[in-house]
Amino acid sequence: MKSLTQFLAQEINRGVKLFFFKANCLVCAAPLVYRGEELICNSCLKKIEKYEGYYCHRCGKFSEQKIDLCGKCSLKQQPFIFQRSFAAYTGVLRKILLLYKYSAIEPLKKYLTSIYKSMIEEFRLRADFLMPMPHDLSHRNNFNHLGLIAEQLQMITGISVLDDLLIKQKKTPQQAGLSEK
Ligand SMILES: [Zn+2]
Ligand SMILES: [Zn+2]
Repeated sequence: MKSLTQFLAQEINRGVKLFFFKANCLVCAAPLVYRGEELICNSCLKKIEKYEGYYCHRCGKFSEQKIDLCGKCSLKQQPFIFQRSFAAYTGVLRKILLLYKYSAIEPLKKYLTSIYKSMIEEFRLRADFLMPMPHDLSHRNNFNHLGLIAEQLQMITGISVLDDLLIKQKKTPQQAGLSEK
């Protein structure tokens, strides 16, 4: 039978191991020490900021000046009502997207889902359905990254997901190697 001292020594040892093996932030590698931190540290999450500048009111393209429509949208009828972007594809957000999409780290979907949710609320989108863009079957992994986010959004917003109605015709280059610009 274990003595109390042995038991305590064992527990302390376990605690020390847990402490040392505590996870690190996937973006900056800092140890995750604060309550509620999971995969990404709070200081990295704070760096994800919504774009607050000017943009084209049709395609959402960011602009340095106040505009109604960008050059392309004023010349051409777009096949959609409008498109919006949360932030530029840089920094922490870009790293999270790449890790989620290409390393298939599924739990990261919660951060991305919360971004989509905030946009649905901000633009008061009343969609009948959510249709995730189908994933590119030519890519290495079979991870349906947008389908998983759509499922989460369906649970939160009650808007049904319609799958398999869109067909991807163009192959998109893998973003993993694309530059920040
Ligand atoms: Zn971090
Ligand atoms: Zn535009």
